[in-house]
Amino acid sequence: MVLIRVLGSAAGGGFPQWNCGCLNCQGVREGTIRAVARTQESVSVSADGKTWFLLNASPEIRQHIEGFPPLHPRKPRDSPLEGILLTNGDLDHCLGLLSLRESYPLVLYATERVRRGFTEGNVLYRTLERFPEQVTWRTLKLGREEEMTAGGRPSGLSIEAVAVPGKRALHLEGLVTPDPEDNVGFRIRESATGRALAYFSAVGAVTPSVCQALEGADCVFFDGTFWSSDELPALGVGTKRAEDMAHVPVGGEKGSLALLAGVGAPRRIYIHLNNTNPLLREDSPERARVETCGWEVAYDGMEIAL
Ligand SMILES: [Zn+2]
Repeated sequence: MVLIRVLGSAAGGGFPQWNCGCLNCQGVREGTIRAVARTQESVSVSADGKTWFLLNASPEIRQHIEGFPPLHPRKPRDSPLEGILLTNGDLDHCLGLLSLRESYPLVLYATERVRRGFTEGNVLYRTLERFPEQVTWRTLKLGREEEMTAGGRPSGLSIEAVAVPGKRALHLEGLVTPDPEDNVGFRIRESATGRALAYFSAVGAVTPSVCQALEGADCVFFDGTFWSSDELPALGVGTKRAEDMAHVPVGGEKGSLALLAGVGAPRRIYIHLNNTNPLLREDSPERARVETCGWEVAYDGMEIAL
């Protein structure tokens, strides 16, 4: 069985976002819209319910661990977290790593590009280099399936990183040239049953290789950042279109809802929702539209067993 728990389901900034007074953010603060607050994206997975892996390390990682008892220590110095997987180098996916500095060995799975983007020139990373093997990096090669281990033994889960159209982390723009390893999605497969989770929380374009990676999955998590291309400009809270920020919108003729209509996974879930997204409002027409098409919208605390 693949056990999945959504710890955080919002895009960078969370919902509500500290400096945003848009309809959604103000509405959720004041309780005037039908919506629940969400922390920044992170999901935990396990094959046995005892050893766990995190997909992305959000700035709210401490709250995520404390809020989910299976991630609590079982003895004085301990953690059921056997590894943390990074889809890209965005701060909302990596910043949580620096909060795990309390002298405990960590295993991090990422592409070489994402590893370098986080470690090079980052003086704060030294807090994770206080003793040998504080961090063990497991390098993910595109298209190669790797076994995920727990205490040196097979965890029952394997992972494959799939290149996805995206971009470098904002803080690396202008420092490094774009590379296919900058942004990946994961296919996580349980060895015993073959059950598969496709995790694609940041997708700049729906390409044939993205569609292929979703095929045969029992559950798909997909980029739900924006409903429409001009969501930020239309609300007056930004100038960039969704595509400029490497997120394919959900709605519209060229949106993911239309382009992924052929995806047959029994569970299809939008995650990484920006606070401006009308999908956050449970009674919005956009929400009704995706649900009619068989898609769900992730929320913090959502649990799935495959
Ligand atoms: Zn907002």
